[in-house]
Amino acid sequence: MNLQSMLSSLVAFRSVVGTHNGALVDYIRDFLATQGVESVVVGGPEGDRFNLFATIGPPDVPGYILSGHLDVVPANEPAWEGDPFRLREVEGRLVGRGAVDMKGFVAAVLSAVPDLVAMNLTRPIHIALSYDEEAGCRGVPHLIAKLPTLCAPPLGCIVGEPSGLVPVLRHKGKAALRIVAAGKSGHSSRPDLGRNAIHAILPALAAMADEAEAQRVGGPSDSHFAPPYSTIQIGRISGGEALNIIPDRAEAEIEARAIAGVDPLALLEPALRIVAADDALSAEIVASYPGLAIGEDHPLAELVSDLSGNKPLAAVSYGTEAGLYQAAGVPAIVCGPGDISRAHKPEEYITVQELRAAAEMVLRLGRRLTAGQSRPRAVGTG
Ligand SMILES: [Zn+2]
Repeated sequence: MNLQSMLSSLVAFRSVVGTHNGALVDYIRDFLATQGVESVVVGGPEGDRFNLFATIGPPDVPGYILSGHLDVVPANEPAWEGDPFRLREVEGRLVGRGAVDMKGFVAAVLSAVPDLVAMNLTRPIHIALSYDEEAGCRGVPHLIAKLPTLCAPPLGCIVGEPSGLVPVLRHKGKAALRIVAAGKSGHSSRPDLGRNAIHAILPALAAMADEAEAQRVGGPSDSHFAPPYSTIQIGRISGGEALNIIPDRAEAEIEARAIAGVDPLALLEPALRIVAADDALSAEIVASYPGLAIGEDHPLAELVSDLSGNKPLAAVSYGTEAGLYQAAGVPAIVCGPGDISRAHKPEEYITVQELRAAAEMVLRLGRRLTAGQSRPRAVGTG
């Protein structure tokens, strides 16, 4: 199947983050089966969504993972000029939800499979596709946990998030926290008879604002990032019905972004300590993934630089699954087609040329991993 129709097929599945993805996973599994490639499906606790892992080549020697996520952000923006889940070609742009983030990379990988199979790889290429990445990398940890049973320890993982096919060495980690305060309602003239939930939540929020300032002024810093320190912000707060009613509920959401080497969860500690000491408060970690940092002279960085033809970039401001692979002992790097600035927007697109370049990078990796005799066909792009 050519590259463009593969992307068109993938986009047609409405694999919106936080919803089921079984049909899409089945479709990919069937496609791989027609190429003689078996895949393993690794579900999560949700029961209706799955990661997929497949290996081309010998599974018992160390190889490389090509990683992508199958979920996409919702596409409810009125500015879409057509059905977001029907790929449209507009002047060389392939427009559709997920085109660049990141079904384009997945299509490039899948369309290269017939050629990779024909190459008789001496080291394996693994395809790792996850769910609910857009909800804070919720799916891939279940796959990573199973990795030791699926293949020999990989030499590296290329996460194909849009980077203009430039290898990306670093990104910040992130953790998101929701705090809920429960109080007791009543008339505002008798606060002594109720319990004010907004008052109850304030100390935890103040602690976060203080911690943000402490990180800015005196925390660890890494000049590769902008800003060079870890950040914390309270992004949402709600509670209360009217001025003369004691609020019985308050809620806040807080996000921490950590430079590599700092645990994003640790940044939330001051608030979590206060929550633990107050029975009116409860907290939930909504999402968390670690930062990424790999050296420019790491063999994986040099390999991906060679394969992509692009010099590495020190850091990007968005997060990916790469930090989770790295934390699990798999060297990881980000390198995928298209521009991240088109992601999560109406009329999201990737160009045919970008897709083709990504498929070519995958084939180059394959050629590196063969004994050197085979001459793969060019990938069709239609
Ligand atoms: Zn993405």
